[in-house]
Amino acid sequence: NTRVRFAPSPTGPLHIGGVRTALFNYLFTKKNNGTFVLRIEDTDEKRFVPGAEDYIIEALNWCNIPFDEGPGKDSGFGPYRQSERKHLYKQYADQLIENGYAYYAFDTADELDAYRKKDESEGKTFIYNWHNREKLNNSLTLSENKIQEKINSGDPYVIRFKCPTNETLHLKDEIRGDIKIDTNILDDKVLFKSDGMPTYHLANIVDDHLMEITHVIRGEEWLPSLALHILLYRCFNWEAPSFSHLPLILKPNGKGKLGKRDGIEGGFPVFPLQWTDPKTNEIASGYREDGYLPQAVINMLAFLGWNPGTEQELFSLQELTHEFDLTRVHKAGAKFDPNKSKWFQQQYFQQLDASVHVEQLKQLLSYKNISTSFDLTEVVDLVKERAVFSKDLWDLSSFLFIAPSEYEEKAIKKAWKEDTPALMHELTRILGDISDFTSNNVSNIVKGWIKAKEIGFGKVMMPLRIAFVGSLQGPDLFEIAAILGKQETIKRIESAIE
Ligand code: GLU
Repeated sequence: NTRVRFAPSPTGPLHIGGVRTALFNYLFTKKNNGTFVLRIEDTDEKRFVPGAEDYIIEALNWCNIPFDEGPGKDSGFGPYRQSERKHLYKQYADQLIENGYAYYAFDTADELDAYRKKDESEGKTFIYNWHNREKLNNSLTLSENKIQEKINSGDPYVIRFKCPTNETLHLKDEIRGDIKIDTNILDDKVLFKSDGMPTYHLANIVDDHLMEITHVIRGEEWLPSLALHILLYRCFNWEAPSFSHLPLILKPNGKGKLGKRDGIEGGFPVFPLQWTDPKTNEIASGYREDGYLPQAVINMLAFLGWNPGTEQELFSLQELTHEFDLTRVHKAGAKFDPNKSKWFQQQYFQQLDASVHVEQLKQLLSYKNISTSFDLTEVVDLVKERAVFSKDLWDLSSFLFIAPSEYEEKAIKKAWKEDTPALMHELTRILGDISDFTSNNVSNIVKGWIKAKEIGFGKVMMPLRIAFVGSLQGPDLFEIAAILGKQETIKRIESAIE
């Protein structure tokens, strides 16, 4: 049975990089009829942010990739918040100490600082490992009595992993292949902290084991931890899951990792949902609030590091689940392209049923307190092609509901000539005589009249457009006229020549 987990730390809103990790876990496990577990890694109390867990869950639900097991959905492997599993971890740290794989370290922050500074002044970097562990203030150097005395008297300590020396580890990553690591370069990571909490490394391994996780799929930033994690599995004598590290998501210019601030400075969303920072009240925009459809966001994210190997770009979640394959995930960083997000959005927006667009436009109109007798299906038909978001339906059609009260100066300069008022006046009489006011009929009659007068089309069409829209933009003039109806069409022309 395939079991994967998404294990975010609730330190803020979920970045789209996190959503991508969740998505790849979801796709992989669903393809194998497996289970998607959400585990909240909240062992770092200092970095805990209230509201972050709710945000994460809401974001997964909005993206349609809900978890099968997690907070509030216990299938026997819970609790799923590490803070609620606190009591579990110490025994595992103790077990490592008993077997000689870990040790107590009593060095104070000041002492470590002093070592760091000293090494720095000699041009070296201080690493707490075989280089110097035998000289420092820990249970490898102190007598059994002394250690007990320190512990009993409440001296703060951490438990460090005793990294093996002179060994070449052969690690396997499903995406990167084989990786060789010399254990001498690793440091003795802290596994258990003086506040009684495990560090990420210990809690993560213990929980993956206890929750029977079969595949770990996570971001590349965790690759440097892989050696330690594999060593921990070995020391516990547990079978390790398979590991896959997803490529970094890069800024649009390819320079560096896509960061949380890019959403603010870049002006494009990097979060699934809008987030208000509880400390600064700063608002970061989210895809949902910006009007994106979740299927567009998911499709865009799927292509950040994966491709199907064909030309096909549009994939429903179901198709993605079917097609997704870890062997097609690449190692190289994936450049994030906000225009591509928009492109996906446009594709999915265009695919929506006409009735959905009409409903969206209705809502926008009622929000703006506008009542209308226009046929909204026709309005949607007229503008939808150029719409990317539902709000565009209003932006592109608002001139139909609200007659222009000013006319763009540039347009007037270009299109309004001395004889324009007279021409427009004549046109109102022609239009007034049309009984079948459909776009085709109006178009034929008006074009026939222009031809007969032997004047250029622009002389009529441009001022007419200004009268309808207020500028030289907008959709087909005769379709606009048909929607406005005869009366309103004539009224707009008259207002323009006044
Ligand atoms: N808590 C880690 C994070 O925030 C989890 C890393 C992992 O998946 O092992 O990303």
